[in-house]
Amino acid sequence: MQLTHTITLCPTPEQIDYFKRACGTARRVWNWALNEWKKQYAAGGKPNAMALKKQFNAIKYTDPQWLDENGRPWLRDIHRDAHARPFAHLAKAWERFFTDLKAGKEAHAPRFKKKGRCRDSFYVANDKFRLDGKTIRLPKIGEVAMTEELRFKGKILGATVSRTADRWFVAIQVEVPDAQCYRRRTSHEVNGIDLGVTAAATISSGEVIEAPKPLNAALRRLKIRGRRLSRKLEAAKEMAGFGRRARLPKGTRLPVSNNRQKSAATLARLYARLANLRADFTHKLTTRLCRENQALVIEDVNVKGMLANEKLARAISDVGFGMFRSQLEYKARRYGTHLIIADRWYPSSRLCFKCGWKNEALTLRDREWVCAECGAHHDRDLNAALNLKRLATGTALPVASPTSNGGATAGMAPAVVGKVTPVRDDGGHQDTSGQEENCAHFCALS
Ligand SMILES: [Zn+2]
Repeated sequence: MQLTHTITLCPTPEQIDYFKRACGTARRVWNWALNEWKKQYAAGGKPNAMALKKQFNAIKYTDPQWLDENGRPWLRDIHRDAHARPFAHLAKAWERFFTDLKAGKEAHAPRFKKKGRCRDSFYVANDKFRLDGKTIRLPKIGEVAMTEELRFKGKILGATVSRTADRWFVAIQVEVPDAQCYRRRTSHEVNGIDLGVTAAATISSGEVIEAPKPLNAALRRLKIRGRRLSRKLEAAKEMAGFGRRARLPKGTRLPVSNNRQKSAATLARLYARLANLRADFTHKLTTRLCRENQALVIEDVNVKGMLANEKLARAISDVGFGMFRSQLEYKARRYGTHLIIADRWYPSSRLCFKCGWKNEALTLRDREWVCAECGAHHDRDLNAALNLKRLATGTALPVASPTSNGGATAGMAPAVVGKVTPVRDDGGHQDTSGQEENCAHFCALS
């Protein structure tokens, strides 16, 4: 299994200067390669990354655009991995684009990178750096202090140095033997999880998990700091002779004041902090869920296809659904937990989990409702979580009319009752009881 450990770096000012230049190099080479690719493609050629790299290597020390004002090739100052890797990245980006296109998915063609608007990063191959405890020796700049040691043992595949706000990180990819990845579960429950609006998550055991408190404070700060920055931007616009609300013509560069720069840096730090708070919360939640459950059921949410009001509702949810799901997927493998993704049209909120009556009139605002059939009083989120749980135990309720109000658009196949997708069949590396007997269910379901 391939795992990545991201470690904070503590570089000296000289090292930061090198990092910035290396990132700039990677960006510029990417743009050169993409431009060349497009040119060759438009001329009827079949560009490929290896040929482009050769072409680049032939000119990189001689072509005027890669020389500094003294006529010296400045690429020599930067380690070659930083300017060789973008070609591989470009090849991958096109490959992904064409695969998605063929599969009928939404495809994104590679785009030019803009300074300050793209992620700053560069690559170092595994034979070009050495780790020694809490230091990493990188080419051209030597030892850089890290805040912790690499946690994984295994074959090191490579590293990427990147920047978020004003901090630098190194992400080290390690191929870890499967046996070392596995973790022991502490208990073997089966649970459904409803990611929600009022609470961050509701578990079918009845537990309601609230989003971390500092998040609200950070969001408030974000508003204030965002306003401060936009005021400085407006001032800069006025100084340059534009109206406050005027759209700037393309290519206009406003003068950047020191205060605007400072303000932008503060805002970037705050955004990074917010992302960290969210990531910390989701990581702890997903680890706990995988550690305590032998089977988990979540909904398959298609963010794009969701109804407008639901989209809004999810946007204010503090658990990023994509992040939550991808973390569950890889952690479920490590803990040998079955992860079951419920069909997108499974009406988990509308079904009464006791008798199966479907509440067609349920709206997003209804936090509680009473079943017209059996009179049961439901908490919306808990009821949904319990319905999801049923998918794992094989006692899923029949769906009365899957197409009506369930969200499925006309022409789409109605959902199969209780259709589930187990992410992986358990390798059975956990010998603790409680799991084998349930295995029959999954085999029958899949
Ligand atoms: Zn009922």
